[in-house]
Formats: sequence, structure tokens, C-alpha cells
Amino acid sequence: MRLSKMHIKTLREVPNEAEIPSHILLLRTGMIRKLVSGVYGFMPMGWRSVRKIEEIIRQEMDGSGAQEIHMSAVQPAELWQESGRWFAYGPELWRLKDRNGRDFCLGPTHEEIFTDIIRNDVSSYRQLPMNLYQIQTKYRDEARPRFGLMRSREFIMKDAYSFDRDYEGLDESYQTMYDAYDRIFKRCGLECRPVEADTGAIGGSNSHEFTAISEVGESEIAYCEKCSMAATTERAECVDAEPQTDVAELPMELVNTPGTKTIEEVAGFLNIDKTQTIKALLFVTYDNDGKENGYVAAFVRGDRDLNMIKLVNALNIPEHSIEFADEAKMGAVTGCVGGFTGPCGLHDCTIVVDSELPGLKNMCAGGNKEDYHAINVNYGRDYTGDIVTDLKVLKEGDPCPVCGAPVKHARGIEVGQVFKLGTKYSESMGAMYKDENQKDHPIVMGCYGIGVTRTLAAVVEQHHDENGIIWPMSVAPYHVIITLVKPDDEVQAEVAERIYTELQKAGVEVLLDDRKERPGVKFKDADLLGIPVRITVGKFAGEGKVEYKLRRDADKQEMSVEDAISNAIEIVNKEK
Ligand code: ATP
Ligand code: MG
Repeated sequence: MRLSKMHIKTLREVPNEAEIPSHILLLRTGMIRKLVSGVYGFMPMGWRSVRKIEEIIRQEMDGSGAQEIHMSAVQPAELWQESGRWFAYGPELWRLKDRNGRDFCLGPTHEEIFTDIIRNDVSSYRQLPMNLYQIQTKYRDEARPRFGLMRSREFIMKDAYSFDRDYEGLDESYQTMYDAYDRIFKRCGLECRPVEADTGAIGGSNSHEFTAISEVGESEIAYCEKCSMAATTERAECVDAEPQTDVAELPMELVNTPGTKTIEEVAGFLNIDKTQTIKALLFVTYDNDGKENGYVAAFVRGDRDLNMIKLVNALNIPEHSIEFADEAKMGAVTGCVGGFTGPCGLHDCTIVVDSELPGLKNMCAGGNKEDYHAINVNYGRDYTGDIVTDLKVLKEGDPCPVCGAPVKHARGIEVGQVFKLGTKYSESMGAMYKDENQKDHPIVMGCYGIGVTRTLAAVVEQHHDENGIIWPMSVAPYHVIITLVKPDDEVQAEVAERIYTELQKAGVEVLLDDRKERPGVKFKDADLLGIPVRITVGKFAGEGKVEYKLRRDADKQEMSVEDAISNAIEIVNKEK
């Protein structure tokens, strides 16, 4: 491709909202174009890289025995009502009506659609196992679309669904996909860490997220350097503090603690450690019609943070159907008092208590009275929980739930996730098969997603410098850029054309920068675009010499035209 003919517009300035390198660079290179918030289009270079990622995914999926199909983005509400997710998915589900008022949505994921195909097409164990996938545009009306392709409202996803007779079959299908994902992300040039994950709105039991390590990632992961524990902090289990078995329970007392609304304030005022206090968090929940249907008070030790995912899992409600309560309104019903709420004497609300609190003695908690706290509060005697379970966030330095060593934290970009769904969808939607004895069983399912466009952004996050992108060969829009310094110079132009033709003949994807621009501009653009190999044809062209440089290396080499061509062919074939 000749750059002079290509539709490309690089930018010097990008909008302020672009904060992270991938967003900035994908806009600056003109690879993507924003239409509205969270909705992007792809220009020629950007689309080429997207298609390369898709091709890697296709090869690995096909090689794993999966079959590609393509389903519609428009999905009828009825299927989502059957599975129960028309409500559970919440406001992220992009809903629409047709002219007759019938409800539809734009698919954020396709479990219902694939289950529907299978329940109609599969009847016998002989047709199983099976894995179907598609690479398709997804829609999620995200609350906070940001970071460009990273969290957008329209994006490309590869989604696959496996169908097995039983859980052993599912384990095998899951492992096959897990291994394929490992290969896919490696081939895309990503350093990825698979971590245990929560199953969220998709449901099911077991799940791993593939996280591309990056400071700008929105996923926080906890991992242990001593053992192999690695999980999202949403999912990671916590070790409870040792129960205080030999401590005598003292009489509970209300003490005056004026103006001490936070844990820091009350611990300071009473001169106690935060680990001797109980923190209250107050919530209101909503039903399917968006009406308030109850209050929840959650309690964790004062130095801990509440893990919202663990709380909604304990309550068995979707994440979007709970929010912080108006304390005054909740107080009128339950007896809580903003800033002074404790578990003793609360009523008409669901009390959820972190699993370590029952073992801790003589704690300080809110007194449910303005300016008062209760001291020597003990579980069982003074309060109980409707639910007692692990509600804590595993923080950096906390003991590893597997081996006890202090855990580390890192940030990453979730580029893919695999789930063991089990029979959640096949049971609610009636996808059954008959075994050898004509007996009916629900099909056991798994689902497997890769964010194609998010992967593109993750690659740029891991491969760039201050001058631009540094594409790994496998997903680079072009392999080689020939920078023709003086297009008007006949000798230079002839040499550049020759290299261009020879490389193309060898199957190399080449960009020829034949624009009538200053050399400085061309070099800057070549760095910005990040094409892995640059061959510069300049003043020594007459002597058959050119300059050869890899984008990832600092130094450049002068060499003969022939050597430059053969070096380029060799590295492209090795790395593409
Ligand atoms: P997140 O936790 O980041 O919202 P998710 O867990 O909801 O993602 P999945 O339902 O597992 O996402 O979707 C499969 C893949 O699709 C994700 O691993 C991610 O790579 C990609 N993806 C999800 N949401 C978006 C989005 N808003 N923009 C771009 N890619 C996305
Ligand atoms: Mg996910």
C-alpha cells in the first residue's frame, strides 16, 4: 500500500478525555475514530490489526475443534425472559422496541441465543460434545464508557459456547479453551495471567479471567509469589482473623463519642485499634420493577473493606439492584443512625456479618444513637447475623488464602474470560439430550469470551514508547514500512519501488511512504504507526545502500538493498 493513496489522518493533538496510552495512540495514529461516547469506528490500519487478531483467534478456535457461526446482534426479549436475565442484566442491556412495541435487545453476550439453537437442533448424546463460536459485535450500555476501546458500548467479541453430556466433558472442554486462550494471547504478543474470577451476570460456578498485566487495567488481581494462587480481588477469598477463644466477654456499654462518625475518628477518640471496631455499610435493594424492597446492613471489621461482589453473591441478587441507602430513611424503618450504626438492636433489615466477626470479642460498634458507640459488643450475646459469610476485600499484604504468605496486588486488563456454566441455561430454557437409554438430561454448558477490540488496546498498552506504538509482528497492520526520503529523486524512487515489489512478492505486507512530506514528518509518523521494520531509502540509494531499523530497537544499520530485503523477509516469516 502506498501511504500517499491511503486514507489516513494522524493527529498531533487528541481530546483530553483520552487519558491512557492505547486510547491516545489509537486516536493519534488515526486507527480508530470516535462516533459518540463508547462507540468507535476503525480506519484502514486499525481494521487490519483487528482482522489479524480475529484471524489468530479463528485459527486457534478451529484448531481446537470449535465451529464458527454468526448470529444476529438483535435478540428477542422472550429468550432473555426465559433465562431470567431480562431483569438480572440490568441497565447495561441495550433494549429496544420494534414498530409493534415488541421488546428486543442488542446482544451483550449470546448464551440465550446459542442455548436456543442447541435445544432445537440437538436431541441425542451422539451430537455431543460440541463447541460453537462467533466473532461478532456486542452492545453494552456501560455506565462509564472510557479508555477508548477498553470499555466501549459497542465492541467486537469472540464468544464460544461448549455443550457436553456431563461435568467431566465440561472440564475437558473448559481446559481445551483455557489452553487455546493461552496460545491466542501469546500469539498476539500479550503477557497474560489467568486468574480465578467471579462469574457475575453470566452465572455458573467456575471461571478464569485472562488478564493482560498493565497499570491502566481496571481489574485488580491478588496473587501469591509463594504458591500459584491468583484471583481477582472481587473473587479472592480472605483468611479470617484468629478467633479470640480465651477472652472473657465484658458487659456491653453505651459510651458518648460526640461527632465521631468514621472508624478513624472513633478509634482515635476511644484510643483503640481499628481492628477492635466494627464498620457498618447500609444499603437499599430494588425489585424487578425498580421499586425499593428492603434494607441491608453489612458489617466488617473496621480496618477491612467491604467487597460488593461478595455481598451481592451472599444476597443472591444482581449487582445493579442494590445501592447505598439514604440513612435517614433507613433509620426510620430499622433504627440505624448515620455514622453511629451498629448491629445491636437493628430491625427490619437483612443483617450480613463478615465471617470473622463472630470470633472477635469486646468490639466497638455504632450505638444506633446519635453520638454514641457501644463497646464490648460480642456476637451471639449482643447481635447475630441473618447471613454470616466472607465479605472482605483481600488487600495487599494480607495472608494468602492458600499458603498464608503475604499476597501481592497487580492491575490488569481483562481480555478474556472462561466460565463453567453447568446447566443454568439448559435447565431454565429446556436444552436437553437423550442418553443411550432414551433418558433426558440437561446439556452441560461452558462459555468463553475474548474482547477482540479490547485485546487490540491491551496490545498497544504493553507495546509502546513515548514516540508511538511498537506493534508485535503478528498483529501489526503492516510488517514493513519503506520510508522514501525524496520521492522526486529518481534513483531513490526506483530503489524504493524495487524493494516494495520484491517484499510484496515474498508475501510481506508493505507500506511505501511515498508522500511528498519532509523526512522528519515521515520518520515521526513511522514511529507513531509502529510498523515493526523500517527500511529507509535515502541519499545512498545510488550506491545500493539503505538503512534498516526495527521499531523496537534503538539502533539502525546501513546495508545493501538485497540484505535489507532478505532480513525483512526472514524476520517477518519468523514473527508473523
Ligand atoms: P468487565 O468486567 O470488564 O466489564 P465482563 O466480565 O463483563 O467485563 P465478559 O462478559 O466476560 O466481560 O465479556 C467477555 C470479554 O469481552 C471480556 O473479557 C472483555 O475482554 C470484553 N469486554 C467486556 N466488556 C467490554 C467493553 N465494554 N468494551 C470492550 N470489551 C469488553
Ligand atoms: Mg468478564
